[in-house]
Amino acid sequence: MSKESKSLKAGIDYPKNWDQFMNWFHDEQSCLSYLKKLRWPNGFICPNCFSESAPYSLPKNKFKCVKCRKQTSVTAGTIFDKIRTPLKNWFAAVWYLTNQKNGVSALGMQRLLGLGSYQTAWTILHRLRHAIY
Ligand SMILES: [Zn+2]
Repeated sequence: MSKESKSLKAGIDYPKNWDQFMNWFHDEQSCLSYLKKLRWPNGFICPNCFSESAPYSLPKNKFKCVKCRKQTSVTAGTIFDKIRTPLKNWFAAVWYLTNQKNGVSALGMQRLLGLGSYQTAWTILHRLRHAIY
């Protein structure tokens, strides 16, 4: 593989605008497929034994390696690991964080995402800030 990191293209690698964002990430499955494409662009690779054989698919979006039989998921080891809030909320929060030029607040995010509780918004924001900055 080339050492040059290819630059991400709006509309191909990430959404161009909020409308496209809503269109791409309208449900949990579309978020998961996106993460899967980012994580395993050339197909599944077992994080444990690096086998490239197609894994068994398990419920709850888990995979089981056919060689070492270890289970993994597309979110394992990422900031999205073991979250209870739907992925699309996290995606929207990342979008909000990276596109909001006038400063971010948990309240602003709660409004944008239509989150029921301020506490949820705050928790997401806190975790993302920790991961990004
Ligand atoms: Zn394995």
